[in-house]
Amino acid sequence: MTGPPPYLAGMTDALTQFPPTLTEARKRLAQFVPHAGVEYARLRNFDHGPGAHDHVSVLSPYIRARLLDETAVTRAVLAQHTTAEADKFLAEVFWRTYWKGWIQQRPTVWDQYLHDLNRLRDDVQSQAGLRARWEEACLGQTGIAPFDAWAHELVSTGYLHNHARMWFASIWIFTLQLPWQLGADFFLRHLLDGDVAVNTLSWRWVAGIQTRGKTYLAQPDNIAKFTGGRFESVTGLASEAPPIDAPEPPAIVPLQPSDPLPLPARYGILLHGEDIDLPRMLRHASEPVAIAYSETTDRHSPWTMAPHVATFRLEAARSVLPDGVTLDVLADAQAISRWAQLHRLEQIVAPYAPTGPARQALDVYEALQDGVPLSLYRRSLDSTAWPKATKGFFPFRKHIPDLIATFGQ
Ligand SMILES: Cc1cc2nc3c(=O)[nH]c(=O)nc-3n(C[C@H](O)[C@H](O)[C@H](O)COP(=O)(O)OP(=O)(O)OC[C@H]3O[C@@H](n4cnc5c(N)ncnc54)[C@H](O)[C@@H]3O)c2cc1C
Repeated sequence: MTGPPPYLAGMTDALTQFPPTLTEARKRLAQFVPHAGVEYARLRNFDHGPGAHDHVSVLSPYIRARLLDETAVTRAVLAQHTTAEADKFLAEVFWRTYWKGWIQQRPTVWDQYLHDLNRLRDDVQSQAGLRARWEEACLGQTGIAPFDAWAHELVSTGYLHNHARMWFASIWIFTLQLPWQLGADFFLRHLLDGDVAVNTLSWRWVAGIQTRGKTYLAQPDNIAKFTGGRFESVTGLASEAPPIDAPEPPAIVPLQPSDPLPLPARYGILLHGEDIDLPRMLRHASEPVAIAYSETTDRHSPWTMAPHVATFRLEAARSVLPDGVTLDVLADAQAISRWAQLHRLEQIVAPYAPTGPARQALDVYEALQDGVPLSLYRRSLDSTAWPKATKGFFPFRKHIPDLIATFGQ
């Protein structure tokens, strides 16, 4: 009998529940597709707890790393369902696309979040009362049974059901009266699918900042119903959710065109935590001289990230390598530069890195003097869809059929 791979030693349940490989991602997609139609539409809001998330796909860690992208997921689903049957599921898949496009055109929303978080880190250190309440929430010791259960599930598995995320964020903000940015950070440090765009904007949505004035209130009856009675008669929850004050969103910064392929003979591929879809890169280019991975996971938070987050992305990147190829892991811009020189590269190509730490590391590299040129290669769906995320999701949603129609082109 073979034991777990060595990288799982000392890890939480997260990597045993979500093995970080392309094979696993494809297997799970194939298993879920038959359930992505009317069954998903009817049952997706039920959260039956750890190990029993049977009515949703649980694909988010794989989609987040782009082992599976929206195109692959949509094609697989529409091979077995009509567009009408799969409408709910595809809308959820495209919510992600929408959030990515929204923040990409307003990158200072992420900068502002990081700025607020650094200020809050000082507050947590200097204010004993805030620190105690924050620690109780993160440790799942608030005395609110479902909230504490979700905190434990998140930390040990790296995943929470969507409904649990909504209830959790609402209780964090409106019952525990903790700053939303600290809650978003707690999620980002533990979620395997933790995403700069989706996480930040979903927390802003619950707080009433994203859809201005419209908040989400967690209610005991709703929790009891959709957790299958696991949490009956929860008491002590806030009975109202007044919107959190925040500045208006910044003006839109238009998306720049993608850099072109093809490439010179001596080029290297630089994967990163935002996109490890090597098979896609290889479909469009000749064989690279070297392949590397830029590691920036720990820059998502001023606190320590759960180790399973970085391990998931790195091992997932290793899982897409052709046989016999090794992956150079590069910690910063100087390491990228040394790697390019070592392999005498004429060009580096990386999958497009949207707003966030991976992009920031690449920007620092590009600012180095005498670096090998870097090009960022963006998927055509992202280039087409993201500029449409100018207003709310519902105007964006109208474009979904046209976006799907472009997949075959
Ligand atoms: C406060 C809060 C924080 C969140 N943080 C993240 C995050 O960091 N990363 C993340 O991927 N999702 C996040 N979500 C969205 C959603 O909860 C997860 O995508 C979903 O629970 C993942 O589980 P699943 O793969 O089983 O989803 P399914 O229901 O099977 O959906 C399929 C796919 O569609 C996408 N999707 C589903 N729901 C949403 C949604 N509401 N918004 C955007 N995309 C969605 C995901 O890629 C998901 O894998 C957050 C939601 C809330 C309320």
